[in-house]
Order: sequence, then C-alpha cells, then structure tokens
Amino acid sequence: MTAATSVPATADVDPRYTVAGSSWPLTDEQREYIAIADELGRTKFAARAERYDRDAVFPTENYDDMRDAGLLRLCVPKSHGGWGADLFTYALVSATIGKYCGATALTFNMHACSSMWPGVLADALDMTGEQRAQHEEYRSLHFRRIVEDGAIYAQPFSEGTAAAAGKAPFGTSATKVDGGWLLNGKKIFASLAGSADYYGVLCTEHKEGASVRDSMYIAVPKDTPGFSIMGDWDPLGMRGTVSRTLIFEDVFVDDNAQLMPRGVYYQAASRWPHMFMTLSPTYMGIAIAAFEFTVRYLRGEIEGMGPRVKRRMFPTKQITVAQMQIMLEQTRALFLRAFSEARVDPPKDVRLRAFAAQYTIMENANQVSQLAIRTCGGQSMLKSLPLERLYRDSRCGSLMLPWTAELCLDRIGREALYEHGEGDD
Ligand SMILES: Cc1cc2nc3c(=O)[nH]c(=O)nc-3n(C[C@H](O)[C@H](O)[C@H](O)COP(=O)(O)OP(=O)(O)OC[C@H]3O[C@@H](n4cnc5c(N)ncnc54)[C@H](O)[C@@H]3O)c2cc1C
Repeated sequence: MTAATSVPATADVDPRYTVAGSSWPLTDEQREYIAIADELGRTKFAARAERYDRDAVFPTENYDDMRDAGLLRLCVPKSHGGWGADLFTYALVSATIGKYCGATALTFNMHACSSMWPGVLADALDMTGEQRAQHEEYRSLHFRRIVEDGAIYAQPFSEGTAAAAGKAPFGTSATKVDGGWLLNGKKIFASLAGSADYYGVLCTEHKEGASVRDSMYIAVPKDTPGFSIMGDWDPLGMRGTVSRTLIFEDVFVDDNAQLMPRGVYYQAASRWPHMFMTLSPTYMGIAIAAFEFTVRYLRGEIEGMGPRVKRRMFPTKQITVAQMQIMLEQTRALFLRAFSEARVDPPKDVRLRAFAAQYTIMENANQVSQLAIRTCGGQSMLKSLPLERLYRDSRCGSLMLPWTAELCLDRIGREALYEHGEGDD
C-alpha cells in the first residue's frame, strides 16, 4: 500500500458496529483501509457532521483529511499509484465512513466511482486494442490528477428526465469538434457542486438517431468557460452533499477529458450492474450508526446528556432493539453477499440479489433509524445528538437513481416473472 498516513492500522472498535463484523474473511488490505476510514471517522468526521448538516455546507475539512490519509486514491489502480480497491473493498470503506458522516460517504461515492469505473470496471470490459491504448493514455491523466494533485471528481448524471433511470438518452450533449468535445445541457442534484475540481458528466454524443448506446463520460474542469453552477440547496437530508444544478453552455474540453471511450459506458451499464449499487454502502453505515446509538443510549452511555439514565430494563425497549438487530443482520448479510459477488456479466441470480440488496439497505436504513427514534424517545431527537440527522439522511437513500427502491421492485418483479425476450402473446 502506498498510503501517506500516520493513522494506526488497527482500531479498537466493537465488531458488532462494523460493516464486516468479526468473522467475515477480510484481506489485510481491506482491514487496513477500513481502519484508516474508521480512525478518521471517529476522531474527525463524527464531530464535524452536525455543522455540515446544519449549514448545508460541503465537508471540505473531511476531504482534506482523506487526501492526507491517501483515501482519495482508494479506487485508482495500483499501476497508477492508487490503492487498487475493487468494488467490494470500496463498499466496506464507504460504509465505514457512512457511520460517521453520511454526506461525506455519499459524496465520496461520486469521487471514488470516477476512478473505479475507468479503472477496475473498464479493465473487465471489451475494447479494441486501439481503444484500450487510448483509454490508458486518457485515464492516466485523470488518475494522476487524483494521486499527485489530490483532485476531487464529481459525477453528475441526473437530469430530471428518464435518462438517469437508464430509460432514455442523456439530454446533455457532447458534440465532436476539432481536438475535443463541446458540451451543452443541464444536470440536477450534482453532489460536490462548487467543491469538485472536475465534473465527470454523463452525456450523449450528438449525432443523428443517438440512443443510450451513445452515452459518453467526460470530465469538465471546474473553471472551464461556459460551465456554471446555479440554484440553492436546502433539502431534508444529506445536506452536506451540496447537490446543486450545473449548466453547460458550449463548454469545450480536450479529447483526453474522456473518462471512458465511446460505447464503453453503455457496455459497463449493461454488463456491470453492481456499478449502480455503490450509493448503498453509505446507508449501510447509517443503519449501523443508528443501531449503535440506540444501544448506547438505552444503556445510558451517551455523553453530554446530564445524569446517566438507563432505559434498557423495559421489555418494550428490548424487543425493539431485538427487531433492529435482526433487521441490521439481514441487511448486513445481503450487503456482504451482494458486494462480494460483484463481477462483470453476473448470472441472473446474482443480478437479482444485487437489486434485492440495494432495496433492503436503502429501506432498512430508514426503518432502523425510525425505530431508533421511537424507542429512544423525545430527548434522542434533539439536534444536539446525531440520531435525527441519521433519520433524515437515511430517507434519501431509496430516492437515488438509477436504482431507487421503486425501480428495484420493478426490475425484480419483471425479471422474476419473465425470461429474456418473453412476452404474453
Ligand atoms: C442527496 C442526494 C444527492 C444526489 N447526488 C447526485 C449526484 O451527485 N449525481 C447525480 O447524478 N444525481 C444525484 N442525485 C439525484 C438522484 O440520483 C436522483 O436523480 C434524484 O433524486 C431523482 O429525483 P427526481 O425527483 O428527478 O426523480 P424522478 O425521475 O422524477 O423519479 C421519481 C421516482 O419515480 C420513479 N421512477 C423514475 N423513473 C422511472 C421509470 N422509468 N419507471 C418506473 N419508475 C420510475 C423512481 O422511483 C423515482 O424515485 C442525488 C440525490 C440526492 C437526494
């Protein structure tokens, strides 16, 4: 590992409140990366989360700490100076961050995917020799920016149309011009708006009869003429993500701004379904945090609440905690299984399990947080404590395209009942 960090490799954390628990077989590297994330989360992120949420501001200090610890290069391949994390390793780290600051974990998803998709995912996809060589040249530039300059990448694809659900081409267009591309369009809910150094825009190549197959993935530097950020950001939860609207008006970028060659994003979206599961680790972390808070609260262990009052002796509390633990174990089991079997061209059972895992994590994170507030009671939902933030943040999970809770149900139901190409005539 090439981490520049003084953070200890092992952290003294109760395994009940970790993503992998004490028995899941982790590699040494996974243990190390999780320990680094956990140390930062416990010692820095947890205390800052309230301010980012209250003021709806981006967690800049957390990113500075992640940069210093080397975490920003988590998914950059080792051959390019990164830590070479695969999808599962990313998920373990992301969920660990999510325990301490949901907005940091969710935005870290956009940044990490900006190197995971052109990195480990693209390595498993088909490209011609020429495409592969060109991709290698272009991606080295992006990886170098992250590894050497500590650059942060955002990942805007939502447009408020059917495009983000993968049902229509992106309305944002990329027109091929001499030496590069000209981008025009608008993106909504772009996390890291105003804080990213580069915006990895999903768009459609401008040509006659363009379809989803013509999707392009192109990085726009923050100061490019024609690029602007507009609108305010005052949502229910995940307030520190600062997911504002981006406008592209004749934005010119060089050829090497491509994060994937022509046609490869579409191939990835068709063959690597788990690439759309990467938002869920944040919410896995939130569910664990809500459960841990509840146990500590009922045991009278939360600091700063005046005299130590225990509430654990009431049978109704014990039943609720039992329900929460069962739900958490179900969620964690599916999380670990689904992420550990992520691969290109997964068979149908694996693909459907990925949808089931995404649905379960997103819905249960909110359920667990809801039960936590109900059973801890009125004092637990004061803004001086993290629980009400976990509750609000957790509500955002199942809304996130392309795999919203509704779309997961839609896909599971249809694919369970119909084989490929089947109709009812
Ligand atoms: C905190 C936060 C951060 C975000 N950050 C980013 C980001 O960084 N980048 C980014 O690109 N996006 C981001 N998003 C956007 C997110 O992924 C969704 O695009 C956004 O929440 C969609 O909102 P909408 O109301 O436009 O959805 P709509 O498209 O109006 O959909 C509403 C609901 O209808 C259902 N639905 C939609 N399409 C279909 C369909 N074809 N068939 C059946 N049902 C359907 C879905 O369940 C969906 O939840 C973020 C969102 C949040 C909440």
